[in-house]
Amino acid sequence: MTSVTTPATFTELGLITPLLARLAELKYQQPTPIQAQAIPSVLAGRDLIAGANTGSGKTATFALPMLQKLRANISSSSKSNKGNFVTGLILVPTRELAKQVADSIKSYAVHFNGEIKTVAVFGGVSVNKQMLTLRGGSDILVATPGRLLDLISSNAIKLDRVNTLVLDEADRMLSLGFAEELTALLALMPTKKQTLLFSATFPEQVKSLTQELLNNPIEIQLQSADASTLVQRVFTVNKGEKTAVLAHLIKENQWRQALIFVNAKHHSEHLAEKLAKRGITAAVFHGDKGQSERSRVLYGFKAGDIEVLIATDIAARGLDIEKLPVVINFNLPRSPSDYMHRIGRSGRAGEVGLAISLIDHEDYHHFTVIEKKNKIWLEREQVEGFEADEISDNSILATEKPMAKPEGTGKKKRKKKMTVNADIWSGYSKPE
Ligand code: AMP
Repeated sequence: MTSVTTPATFTELGLITPLLARLAELKYQQPTPIQAQAIPSVLAGRDLIAGANTGSGKTATFALPMLQKLRANISSSSKSNKGNFVTGLILVPTRELAKQVADSIKSYAVHFNGEIKTVAVFGGVSVNKQMLTLRGGSDILVATPGRLLDLISSNAIKLDRVNTLVLDEADRMLSLGFAEELTALLALMPTKKQTLLFSATFPEQVKSLTQELLNNPIEIQLQSADASTLVQRVFTVNKGEKTAVLAHLIKENQWRQALIFVNAKHHSEHLAEKLAKRGITAAVFHGDKGQSERSRVLYGFKAGDIEVLIATDIAARGLDIEKLPVVINFNLPRSPSDYMHRIGRSGRAGEVGLAISLIDHEDYHHFTVIEKKNKIWLEREQVEGFEADEISDNSILATEKPMAKPEGTGKKKRKKKMTVNADIWSGYSKPE
């Protein structure tokens, strides 16, 4: 943990005028805690491992110092031709996040008169267009690993001159789903470079992997869930009544928007149909949708035109949806860290947010695992008119005392049928 006294203004962080001017235009009044703590160290060239609440301003934390250092190093000769090289590489797990991060960087750099070239590359869209955009190299490249490897094999880009590597959503980038691709990419980069790892959660297994990647890093760990801005609630419901409860909650609360997480692509379509029968129009967002449809839906949701969005976990990582009032777990995520990523879509940047989980009897045990791993404990609530049946002997399983704190409350009954794989890798799948 760092014990830096945190500067209160962006000027005190040592940022240059074009960036300060842009931050003022964006009405960023002061650095967020992660920005205040990390930016000076990143500017000084230190490696960093930052565990910060999602929505805490992570993108600017790496983007601003990267831009500042790149600008200082750009000589007039390299301006026009950067070869096929990239200098700053940001790896992210999803296409949408790649685009979002690149858009933020471009926005922060508007007063650099086009001196810094930022490109996003990701799968699902034509590779030819990306190859053309990469002609002459790129100062900052935001990429999903698979597409980046494709582009490297076509000689469209080279990593030999990468001097800064960022792994955003680092826990996922370091998970088994990406291991092969990440190893291949790391082998193509110089060993001597600045490496910055950002994630809301850093499971222990990931921490040990980071030792190899980082050189004497600064470690910053902020609160993983900020109770003051994000309220978490859990409602017990009967199996088979979840849709009715969901529709009831949406209608009763008249949320401006709601993001609903399900665990499978086909569940999202199915749930949308069932909600439609109850008079609620919902859009769906998952990995089987074409990229143009994914972009259209996401844009519509971000713009507020789509009110209810049903999504799989591809929407759980890093997406910044302004003032999203509520996230609902219709199905629980398999991995406890995915729970944190999902709920982090609401209550971003200090806004008030709400995260609701609907659990039926079969979910009880898994939810206690999620709570325990994330060191949270929520009172089980009922929705009036949809009260869940008394817990049966069979379903009580490991949650013998559903209202008791999970830690240090005596023995737990071992669950017979339902096996919950607490292995943190289990919830991760290949990028969509
Ligand atoms: P991020 O965690 O990078 O996804 O950022 C979450 C949101 O916070 C984005 O909409 C940013 O534009 C916004 N943001 C980042 N830093 C600040 C700041 N210092 N003041 C106000 N908003 C910020």
